Amino acid sequence: MIIKDYVLQIKKNLKEEISSFSTKPHLLIIQVNDDLASNTYIKGKLNDANEIGAKASLLKLDVNISEKELISIINESNNDKTIHGIIVQMPLPKHINETNIKNSISVAKDVDGFHPMSKFKACTPKGIIDYLKAEDIELASKNAVVIGRSNIVGKPVAQLLLNENCNVTILHSKTLKADMNMFLLNADIIVVATGKKHLISEQKLKKSAVLIDVGINRSENGLCGDAKPNLDIRLQTPVPGGIGLITRVTLLKNLVEAYKNGI
Ligand code: NAD
Repeated sequence: MIIKDYVLQIKKNLKEEISSFSTKPHLLIIQVNDDLASNTYIKGKLNDANEIGAKASLLKLDVNISEKELISIINESNNDKTIHGIIVQMPLPKHINETNIKNSISVAKDVDGFHPMSKFKACTPKGIIDYLKAEDIELASKNAVVIGRSNIVGKPVAQLLLNENCNVTILHSKTLKADMNMFLLNADIIVVATGKKHLISEQKLKKSAVLIDVGINRSENGLCGDAKPNLDIRLQTPVPGGIGLITRVTLLKNLVEAYKNGI
């Protein structure tokens, strides 16, 4: 299914579900930066929430706020029963420790899934698995190759694929090119999350391979992924219009779940 349609269907289902609730799920977005890209991401999240009939509010704080003050505001929101999901938009000012902030969000409201004990799976990895399942991609006993080992994409997606009984190989910046080619040759499922434009282009892949392109790279022709488009394989997610959309809608899924857990 085209990803845009897949995402629209999920939004439609969530909207229907929310219309049966007595109150609206409420997402609080905390921003402590003047970053243009963050403004765009936040605008998207506010629109997404509105679209499904949820409530989203933005709390924009002074970039000079201390870590202690920020944690105290997060604590207040953790205790506020009218707020169901809390996200802190990255990046944070240099004087604030990112891990301390992520870990201060209540595990029941951490809809980004960044707290180590979060009740939620991180949106990009969870969104990828949900999408593979919706596309009826068989996972058990398949060879999955994950390229990238970050804490927000590579490692969690590898763990979720392992939970689905894939044979998982993780490749990274120190992997030799010849080895990458060898692993890709046998890969049934490839998840590439490196931020390296067209890292996958000439390698030989199985015709039956499924490639999930997480990368977002800026080029003179706009955004592009970590894989060259239109490879001769079974399924390849596009960039833009692919995993970015799936990640956004997964945040909404987590928000609705947080709301339901809280009532
Ligand atoms: P990161 O910089 O934290 O990690 C990149 C990983 O790629 C590292 O583990 C590194 O070892 C690996 N790598 C780098 N060069 C490589 C190479 N030549 N060969 C093999 N591995 C290599 O990045 P991240 O936060 O995991 O994000 C990765 C990409 O995904 C970025 O382009 C980011 O913008 C994008 N992203 C997209 C979404 C989305 O919603 N679509 C979400 C998160 C990240």
